Amino acid sequence: MHYHVLTLFPDMIEHAMGQSITGRALQNSLLSMDVINIRDFSENKYNKVDDYPYGGGAGMVMQPGPVFCAYEKVKENIEKQGRVSKPKVVYMTPQGKVFHQKIAKELAKEEDLVILCGHYEGIDERVLEEIVDENISIGDYILTGGELPALVVMDSIARLLPGVLHNEESAQLESFSNNLLEYPQYTRPVEWHGKRVPEVLLSGHHANIEKWRQQQSLERTKERRPDLL
Ligand code: SAM
Repeated sequence: MHYHVLTLFPDMIEHAMGQSITGRALQNSLLSMDVINIRDFSENKYNKVDDYPYGGGAGMVMQPGPVFCAYEKVKENIEKQGRVSKPKVVYMTPQGKVFHQKIAKELAKEEDLVILCGHYEGIDERVLEEIVDENISIGDYILTGGELPALVVMDSIARLLPGVLHNEESAQLESFSNNLLEYPQYTRPVEWHGKRVPEVLLSGHHANIEKWRQQQSLERTKERRPDLL
């Protein structure tokens, strides 16, 4: 997977993705990330990339030109690296379909993924019409920019890529993988605050453990997320 992030705040993306499991995956070239600062494509000497909305109203709107040129740059980079030049473009927007694990699995199949982050009141509609393939929201609330949503999407896709998680099984068994929430997890000590780890987990009997986990998964989903069943 090659991520290409179009943003006005590259440090936010680079810093967060450089940590923990995604940081290790980047270092080990299990995924790559190219962060493009839209401001570098400003069309004026003040490096401005936003302007007042036509028709009036609060806030500023990101201009189409710099976003388009940043996207063209991505296409050029991909072509130079010998891959297809029409990558899928996802725009992070509260007006998109709400992100979930199935979308993560679909997007994980892409070779290149361009993620466009808006800011201020959003982006001029005309460039969105030209370059965006999918609009994705991370929930029904408004954030200041698309960077946190982009990180959510990139993180959840990254853990589905081969080799990113040390234990391949863990991505397959996690919540949502079978429309079920995951069973409860326990670690040492065996007793804590007077509560013991369920005996079956200490039994070493794999079939019983598996059965118990399936039951727990089902009960937990019924109780917390019946809509998934
Ligand atoms: N005026 C826009 C509207 O009402 O739809 C909201 C703009 S928001 C303040 C600025 C940017 O943050 C958006 O362009 C988008 O990239 C991002 N954003 C905000 N909330 C989001 C969400 N829930 N999911 C995905 N992106 C979001």
